[in-house]
Amino acid sequence: MRFTRLRLNGFKSFVDPTDLVIRDGLTGVVGPNGCGKSNLLEALRWVMGENRASAMRGDGMEDVIFNGSGKRGARNFAEVVLQLDNSERLAPAGFNDADTLDITRRITRDAGSAYKLNGKDVRARDVQMLFADASTGAHSPALVRQGQISELINARPKARRRILEEAAGISGLYQRRHEAELK
Ligand code: ATP
Ligand code: MG
Repeated sequence: MRFTRLRLNGFKSFVDPTDLVIRDGLTGVVGPNGCGKSNLLEALRWVMGENRASAMRGDGMEDVIFNGSGKRGARNFAEVVLQLDNSERLAPAGFNDADTLDITRRITRDAGSAYKLNGKDVRARDVQMLFADASTGAHSPALVRQGQISELINARPKARRRILEEAAGISGLYQRRHEAELK
């Protein structure tokens, strides 16, 4: 499955609808400091089901909604659409009847997030599962945050272990064990 398009509307600094076509091969995003390069990568992570506000550099998930700047007022929703090329029919069963998959996540102030797949309502879990077998997804170690490499190098051993566990995809197992021990 290949990412072919990313559309943003009201997501962080992308207050106006923005439509990015992702072509074959390597894509580079260049621009001055603060122009929104990292926000783009966060949009990608978010639409794939990221639910930790900290991974979005925010205190709460609503912080991804454009919160106003200069003369422009805050918005009350943010929406990101990720388009995937599914012509090779690699999506899991149940999602595999179209050449193109449009995954939409929309967050509205005070109403939380809602997801759609090709226009139909789906659960966050469905979107997360869509990526579970692919080597991508919101928690994929293939998405390296800015500063994460220097964090890894400078981290104390315990913190370094946490980062490596996250990359290895086993931090969820600890969470489940912790929940089981509380019961
Ligand atoms: P650098 O080159 O320094 O890494 P960058 O291109 O990665 O910069 P980002 O970190 O993506 O830049 O964008 C930061 C900008 O996004 C800041 O100007 C910040 O004010 C803006 N921003 C973040 N969240 C919101 C929000 N909810 N509403 C409006 N603007 C936001
Ligand atoms: Mg950046």
